[in-house]
Amino acid sequence: MARNTGPSCRLCRREGAKLFLKGSRCVTDKCALTRREYAPGQHGLARKKESNYGTQMREKQKVKRIYGVLERQFRHYFQIAERSKEVTGIMLLQLLERRLDNVIFKMNLGNSRAEARQLVQHGRVYVNGKRLDIPSYTVKLGEEISVKVSEKLTKALNERVEELKDRPTAKWLEVNGKALKAKVTAMPTKEDVGFPIQEQLIVELYSK
Ligand code: SF4
Repeated sequence: MARNTGPSCRLCRREGAKLFLKGSRCVTDKCALTRREYAPGQHGLARKKESNYGTQMREKQKVKRIYGVLERQFRHYFQIAERSKEVTGIMLLQLLERRLDNVIFKMNLGNSRAEARQLVQHGRVYVNGKRLDIPSYTVKLGEEISVKVSEKLTKALNERVEELKDRPTAKWLEVNGKALKAKVTAMPTKEDVGFPIQEQLIVELYSK
């Protein structure tokens, strides 16, 4: 699966916002954005007045980077959202939030979405008892997600759940951290994203 393999911190610095791509490092003094709060590159320190188009573009890039999705797939999500009967921007966020790798992240089984994605790709994740190794799979209402690993790894994941217990919980998931299971009990809302996102800017950008 295609993904961004460049330095994660550079992406945060480009967006001028913490995107929490590196797990626990992001909440320490080692965070690159805390130390260098300006865009990367030769002109990073130069003050720039962002155009309308630029603002819309930055918002789209920010959301793509949060979920680790590349342009083609992101546009595909937008097209599905546009065809749905729901509000396009909200539906777009909902589709991203329902990705299987994001569900594993929200179950606190990964320090970051990239780590959660690895768990899926390594074939440790089951949906309704069936093994699924596709990180982009969209979970549906009522589906049960479980992680099956060795006893040793179960212990390590239980410790991770404990370590990350202060993270905001996903209200649309009923999570049993000890059993490494979750059930989709509702559809995610904009609040569940946990980031201030102006999805309308993305809709405007793609509607040009
Ligand atoms: Fe972003 Fe985390 Fe790197 Fe900070 S440490 S710049 S939040 S990825």
